[in-house]
Amino acid sequence: MDRHQKTTLERLAGKGIRFHYPMHQLTTYQVGGPVEVLWEARDLMTLKEVIRFLSAESIPYGVLGKGSNLLVTDNGIDGVMILLKGSLATINQGPEDSLVWAGGGVHLTDLMKWCRQKGMSGLEFMAGIPGTVGGAVVMNAGAFGQEVGEKVKTIQFVVSGGTAVLMNRSDLEFSYRRLHVHKGSAVVNACFQLSRSTPDKVAEKMGDFLRTRKETQPHGAPSAGSVFKNPPGDHAGRLIDQAGLKGRKIGGAMVSEKHANYILNMGSATARDILSLMELVHFEVKRTSGINLEPEIKIVGKQP
Ligand SMILES: Cc1cc2nc3c(=O)[nH]c(=O)nc-3n(C[C@H](O)[C@H](O)[C@H](O)COP(=O)(O)OP(=O)(O)OC[C@H]3O[C@@H](n4cnc5c(N)ncnc54)[C@H](O)[C@@H]3O)c2cc1C
Repeated sequence: MDRHQKTTLERLAGKGIRFHYPMHQLTTYQVGGPVEVLWEARDLMTLKEVIRFLSAESIPYGVLGKGSNLLVTDNGIDGVMILLKGSLATINQGPEDSLVWAGGGVHLTDLMKWCRQKGMSGLEFMAGIPGTVGGAVVMNAGAFGQEVGEKVKTIQFVVSGGTAVLMNRSDLEFSYRRLHVHKGSAVVNACFQLSRSTPDKVAEKMGDFLRTRKETQPHGAPSAGSVFKNPPGDHAGRLIDQAGLKGRKIGGAMVSEKHANYILNMGSATARDILSLMELVHFEVKRTSGINLEPEIKIVGKQP
């Protein structure tokens, strides 16, 4: 980005712009170099204007949630990462009791708390997933055989060019860990179809899911959850375990002993360590089982 573009961006975006912000502070992996520009968008109108400008100037941009599914390279990211805050991170009940609108920047922990307090049922399986509504929708996040896409009724996007678009369920294409959207589309609001229950029942269901998570998934060391997608009819974790890779280390990165599809940052990992371990896992699983594992986590940033 040249100086003129930076000045224009500062004028359009107003407050909340930071240059060369270290991405390791914004990702659950706690690795990654700086992003050229980090911007906290707080309202729809400004977000549209900024995306219009970035699109017109061909400046790369993306939306960042909690960074819980991201591996940012050590060289960092060119362009702009946008965080959704303020009015883009609020929860509202629709005129129909069962419809809940949540901003793309809402943290899933806050949505879970809201559902628990209001006794709204349907998203309990998401308890313990550390993302935002936008990240969960785009990743079609799921657990225990359920996916968030099943509960989505409508999504409001700001698409490349800066136009706001409302898409209904019939126009949306969800697949395993993916919502099919055009590059540069920001999820600003999602409407979930839930059902009325009681706070106690919702809390109990969430508690059950959280307990199972605690028993089966590693916690303590930074990670981005499951690294590879499950291949059809199998589990990436089982294949990695079968390849004898539990506990395998490269630098500060280690394949979890508890759940082989987690690669953990043992404290000093670089993004390169994690990527090298992913390459090793991919190679060994292909060699031992013939299966090509596909990454579930998103790898972003400049390559060395
Ligand atoms: C301990 C742990 C457990 C996990 N368990 C699960 C699990 O059970 N199931 C599961 O599916 N995932 C799981 N994950 C992965 C992750 O939490 C989910 O994929 C989550 O939905 C990602 O949300 P996020 O806001 O952190 O997205 P980010 O990691 O910030 O971004 C992920 C992708 O979504 C895009 N994105 C984010 N927000 C928006 C937006 N508003 N508009 C457009 N694009 C956007 C980003 O550009 C990026 O491409 C786990 C992660 C961890 C660390």
